[in-house]
Amino acid sequence: MQFIDLKKQYESIKDDVLNEIQEVLDSGQFILGDKVKDLETQLSQYTNSKYCIGVADGTKALLIALMALDIGVGDEVIVPSLTFIATASMALLLGATPVFIDVDPISYNMDANKLEAAISSKTKAIIPVGLFGQCADMDAINAIANKHNIAVIEDAAQSFGSRYKDRASSNTSTIGCTSFFPSKPLGCYGDGGACFTNNDDLAEAMRQIRIHGQDKRYHHARLGLNGRLDTMQAAILLAKLRVFDKEVEAREKIGARYTELLKDANCVTPQIMPYNTHVYGQYTILVTNRNEFIEALKQQGVPTAVHYPIPLHKQPILHKFYTNQDLSVSERLANCVVSLPMHPYLDVETQDRIVAVVKENLPVTASIV
Ligand SMILES: *Cc1c(COP(=O)(O)O)cnc(C)c1O
Repeated sequence: MQFIDLKKQYESIKDDVLNEIQEVLDSGQFILGDKVKDLETQLSQYTNSKYCIGVADGTKALLIALMALDIGVGDEVIVPSLTFIATASMALLLGATPVFIDVDPISYNMDANKLEAAISSKTKAIIPVGLFGQCADMDAINAIANKHNIAVIEDAAQSFGSRYKDRASSNTSTIGCTSFFPSKPLGCYGDGGACFTNNDDLAEAMRQIRIHGQDKRYHHARLGLNGRLDTMQAAILLAKLRVFDKEVEAREKIGARYTELLKDANCVTPQIMPYNTHVYGQYTILVTNRNEFIEALKQQGVPTAVHYPIPLHKQPILHKFYTNQDLSVSERLANCVVSLPMHPYLDVETQDRIVAVVKENLPVTASIV
């Protein structure tokens, strides 16, 4: 059994993928070109964003977004303390200071109620994450950010394909950043990512930054890097995008089925916030006996993963930026989160088997609070 079965997906779209790759090989256009342009057009339509800029990976998407906003030394960037390292480390790479705030105990996303207290005169950006596949409360976060004239970067690496109210994840704030790492909801066969915005100037800045800050050939108007989306990956994504709606639907159904089957079990299942749809980038439950639980599942052939075992403020490279604020929800979650196999091709029999093994290995007493 696979944690994420990419092979099953490949089997079902093989001809289309091979055809797309063949077209790139035949064209001889291996850097940017029509495939990247087509994908950007289709993704901006998919998210209803004015602009989509294909970039090398999700980490580079965040870096390029921060660079377009001129973030650097002396600036503060607010991040949730429970997320993947890249949400905070790209600000650090630019010399800015990450400021941590706790996550909400129900949504596991940035707690908008704690945001105002974390803002200072140095705050330049806020990066809410759609952790596990549903957006943070973006309107609440945007309202506070607007009041203080601060940019909001949505880290949509796990939530791409989900919706916040009437908007697509990636198009809920100043800039949206996503990743096409193979295991993400929309994944390619290597590294890939994209930035989204409705702002003309930021779009132009991000487009330039991804090619060494070039405005004209060999003329460098601003500091940039090599951050382009690979053309082969763009072609693969064109094929994957054709089945993405169907896959999102399957994800929603499989996630809901897990929740239904586990409703009386001694674990906490994900809750979809009323303003969201959920793509279950991860199907993550909370258990009180995580180490034994993971080991027992492994013995019985059910792979799991932990997203994430250490909250950001406890990471060696980030700990010095921790200023003793209360991050207890993130700390508690880091101790009890565990993700179950989740992908759009998970069949009912396999899911039933996973649920049976999960139930068998949950603690009999001591429910979670
Ligand atoms: C995967 C991920 C990233 C980084 O994306 P890469 O494409 O792996 O660089 C950033 N933020 C979050 C929340 C992620 O899950």
